[in-house]
Amino acid sequence: MKTDMNKIEKDCEDGIKKETNKHLIISKIKDGTVIDHITSGMAILVLKILGIGVNTREAVSMAMNVPSSKMGKKDIVKVEGKFISEDELNKIALIAPQATINLIENFKITKKFEVSPPKVVERIISCPNRNCISNSREPISSRFNIYLEDNKVIAKCDYCGKKISNIEKFI
Ligand code: ZN
Repeated sequence: MKTDMNKIEKDCEDGIKKETNKHLIISKIKDGTVIDHITSGMAILVLKILGIGVNTREAVSMAMNVPSSKMGKKDIVKVEGKFISEDELNKIALIAPQATINLIENFKITKKFEVSPPKVVERIISCPNRNCISNSREPISSRFNIYLEDNKVIAKCDYCGKKISNIEKFI
């Protein structure tokens, strides 16, 4: 009987530990945006795509290479006090097509969705073709058409037609 009680207690402790670990990685935020299931290693580029940098005033946290049952390893980004628009968030699909978004209000998930790549992306990708007009001194920002080819996200320059599949290298 005593052993059983010990076992139960131990199970409880393990349960609490698991729960605590989980919360350490994805600690709850009151209001804001949680971007989960980011392709591991891409969190920094996700921040860049969202325009989150040195001048950002929101509390931003990031976890990289977190164990994930679905993906092996993943990154997570949390932005407190800011609801990022769906259009902005969909740009993440360029480099993290499996990313899932949770919008949190008053500690509750009020919206949950998966990102899907936008059809056209301006400014984010630099054209690898040096002779491309988007790389000249002309005040022309880059514009890429986005589509899927064999389940891979492909970007094609709207000016010179250059196609790229390793988009993360040009962000
Ligand atoms: Zn180009």
